[in-house]
Amino acid sequence: MREDIGEIETKLLAIQLRMPTGEQACTQLPITVLSDSLRTRRAFRAFGFAFAVGAVLIVVPLMHLIGPLVSWITAGVLLVRRLSERERLLECKVVCPKCGGEAHIAEQRVQWPIVTLCSSCKWQITCVPAAAVTAHETGVSSARV
Ligand SMILES: [Zn+2]
Repeated sequence: MREDIGEIETKLLAIQLRMPTGEQACTQLPITVLSDSLRTRRAFRAFGFAFAVGAVLIVVPLMHLIGPLVSWITAGVLLVRRLSERERLLECKVVCPKCGGEAHIAEQRVQWPIVTLCSSCKWQITCVPAAAVTAHETGVSSARV
């Protein structure tokens, strides 16, 4: 049983798939919204692990010169990245607009555009949020509404 059940909210986000050849399609991708307490736990777990690796490297000859410094800088970077990650894209598959084949998208940080390759035709598929596409293409700014 996972400790984070009830702290993760999953939603479907409308996405537009674009091919370099001009084909487009719409679909939905599963996004998890991470609660503040879950983000904090994940951040300090990663920070603690990287910090402990640095502490262990202090006693290793020659590694004590650079190992702890690199580990502790990594610990700080992991802490900031995990704390700032409010949403996460779940692993999923999308249908290629060009050939109908499947393209795999790994679980990852939500950072647009998300680019993947079709497993059949090997063309690049670019995923962008449908709302951002609509606002950009119509020239309407959401701040002016
Ligand atoms: Zn394809």
